Amino acid sequence: VTDIIAVFNAGSSTLKFSVFRHDDFSLIHNGTLEVPDSQDGHKKALQQALGWISAHKDGLKLHVAGHRVVHGKDRAKPEKITAKILTELKTLIPLAPLHQPHNLRVIEELAALHPELPQVACFDTAFHRTQPKLASMFALPRRFYDDGVKRYGFHGISYEYIASVLPKYAGDKAKSRVIVAHLGNGASLCAMKNLQSQATSMGFSTLDGLMMGTRCGTLDVGVPLYMQQHLNMTTDQVTDTLYHKSGLLGVSGISNDMRTLEQSDAPEAGEAIALFCHMAAQHCGSLMSILGGLDALVFTAGIGEHSARVRREICHYLTWAGLSFDETLNQKNATQIHAKGSKIAAYVIPTDEEIVIARACRMIS
Ligand code: AMP
Repeated sequence: VTDIIAVFNAGSSTLKFSVFRHDDFSLIHNGTLEVPDSQDGHKKALQQALGWISAHKDGLKLHVAGHRVVHGKDRAKPEKITAKILTELKTLIPLAPLHQPHNLRVIEELAALHPELPQVACFDTAFHRTQPKLASMFALPRRFYDDGVKRYGFHGISYEYIASVLPKYAGDKAKSRVIVAHLGNGASLCAMKNLQSQATSMGFSTLDGLMMGTRCGTLDVGVPLYMQQHLNMTTDQVTDTLYHKSGLLGVSGISNDMRTLEQSDAPEAGEAIALFCHMAAQHCGSLMSILGGLDALVFTAGIGEHSARVRREICHYLTWAGLSFDETLNQKNATQIHAKGSKIAAYVIPTDEEIVIARACRMIS
């Protein structure tokens, strides 16, 4: 019988489920389960996952379960879940209404089915807790900060993975001034020094910063006020517009999927991709000032790992700063895509959030 770690990443319509050996972290299974749109949708998907484990011919024993939890507030490390921690994490639902309830539901369902099983939560916010205070502040009246209205940052599990492997790719540069571009359906940038987060483009909510698949990214806050006050949109309509109808989907009017847009001849598709790169370059510039320059830029996640066009456009914006780009390497999705002699190195490194959660499970349980 093999001891295993199960890793869950619960979204609104899917439950990603990975299984690792407990002794050497080798991957046994990786899959995505559909969550039916019903009260017990997550429970059914979880039962399917547990069914997969118990039906496995080699005999697997579930030792510990790890979960991606989007919001951990001020927590800087993963935590073993207790009833008390679960209650605290539920109070954060208003801070991440699209993700947190699903993440916690799976933890609760699993605890009901297996009360003795140790469970570990890894937080997308945790990696950013090394940021200096200024990077986490809004210029609002002070009492809002004290009430938790501040910049938390997200995609921290992905950034932690990149930080863990970057020295292997970039040598000494890894510890200098680095920007990691996590460009997936959700997207953000993280500025690192000494492999620690110094600033990030996402803030209080998962809306801020880069343009995304369906989210708008940085937006003049006067716009949602105008929508409510003068366009007679309700709070729900504004929320739905900003989270689900904007970004690549909203600007192209075609799709939230970069692959579809790259294959389209419609001018709106081209404009959506151009705006995506424009906003990414703008935020790079902003983070470069905080870092005092840049030594390495890392692309990761679905778009970052696979879209040669997006990488080329973003890198072209950084020519002024000394990034010289090798299009042949870029077309090959090579690990290193800068030209010889470039002042700024550019890398393509696949992320692996699941392995970060699996490692945390073994450390903690
Ligand atoms: P993620 O959220 O990390 O799974 O990334 C999803 C995004 O990556 C979607 O916009 C996909 O269209 C995009 N993506 C995946 N593969 C490719 C590809 N070969 N070329 C361009 N975009 C891709």
